[in-house]
Amino acid sequence: MSGRAQLMWDEAVTGYDFGPDHPMDPVRLALTRKLVAAFGLDREMEVVAAKPAGESTLRLVHREDYIDAVKAASADPARALGAYGLGTVDDPAFAGMHEVSALIAGQSVGAAEAVWRGDAEHAVNFAGGLHHAMPGGASGFCIYNDAALAIARLLELGAERVAYVDVDVHHGDGVQAAFWEDPRVLTISLHEHPRTLFPQTGWPQETGADCAEGSAVNVGLPAGTGDAGWVRAFHAVVPELLAEFRPQVLVSQHGADTHFEDPLAHLAVSLDAQRAVQVACHELAHEYAGGKWIALGGGGYAVVDVVPRSWTHLVGIAAGRPVAPEAVIPEPWRQEVFARTRQLGPQRMTDGRWPVNWASWESGYDPADRLDQAVRATRQAVFPLRGLLP
Ligand SMILES: [Zn+2]
Repeated sequence: MSGRAQLMWDEAVTGYDFGPDHPMDPVRLALTRKLVAAFGLDREMEVVAAKPAGESTLRLVHREDYIDAVKAASADPARALGAYGLGTVDDPAFAGMHEVSALIAGQSVGAAEAVWRGDAEHAVNFAGGLHHAMPGGASGFCIYNDAALAIARLLELGAERVAYVDVDVHHGDGVQAAFWEDPRVLTISLHEHPRTLFPQTGWPQETGADCAEGSAVNVGLPAGTGDAGWVRAFHAVVPELLAEFRPQVLVSQHGADTHFEDPLAHLAVSLDAQRAVQVACHELAHEYAGGKWIALGGGGYAVVDVVPRSWTHLVGIAAGRPVAPEAVIPEPWRQEVFARTRQLGPQRMTDGRWPVNWASWESGYDPADRLDQAVRATRQAVFPLRGLLP
């Protein structure tokens, strides 16, 4: 089912480091890369280090004054005092911040170019998915919005319809903002409800500007949503929209912070459900986007137990060599984990919840259920705008 796949990786992306007290510890990227290698997945695909995104590429999404501010903060971190969101608790400035952020963006842009031109059918950049960065400011641990830049590059190359599906626990607000007025880009975000989580946007009523009505889709899930509800919500919203929109490329963001162990949010999703949704995205890319699939990482702050396993599954699925949930994790990787973190790494590629059970929208509908109320709010807000029954 899968053709050639590319893994976008440059060791230097691990320099995206906000410091020892910040939850986005780059060890999560290093450990993911090593777990991918431990399963031999990097021998099944081409590993490509794309060049950093240049000024003209960054300007496809970001304002020039913001790029200048990032460069200044990068050169002299002590002088970033909060303007443009730089030098804040969430986005502390650090030396080399511009360069490494542009490098991560370059991997997503390179993925977009490879997939669009047919050099690869699928491409994965698990260091990417920095979906909160705004055209004119840093936000939520994100400096440059590599997801939006990849999409903007696809449009520049001639794409007329690009679908973006974001299953990070947080709303994909920066990507939505970048294409709010652009009917060529359908953004779909499933996330914990804005009432209980940063960035407090992503309400079902956010459906796009007047000139692009129905091009933004938001599902705000109740805190505590588990596997069955999360997968049910995905299938109740995403496939029908993709079938109607007929994207030429699917870009998906796989933040692993929906997990029950994640310290920054309140969903209760397992690794096994994350894997099930990754498989679904892969299948949807083949069904509705001619197989053109760009898969990105995102949030995820259980940096030892969850992130490496989740994104290794993602890489395996893209490579056409999915790792079985029951697979035992190679011991040398666990030794590496202990050496680096003094934590004991997980032993298997499952949380023991496989296979994931869920009910289809039609068969399981319960109007008194809060998950179903959330899904229904989304369908009612946006499905008619796309000519679909709510
Ligand atoms: Zn997140």
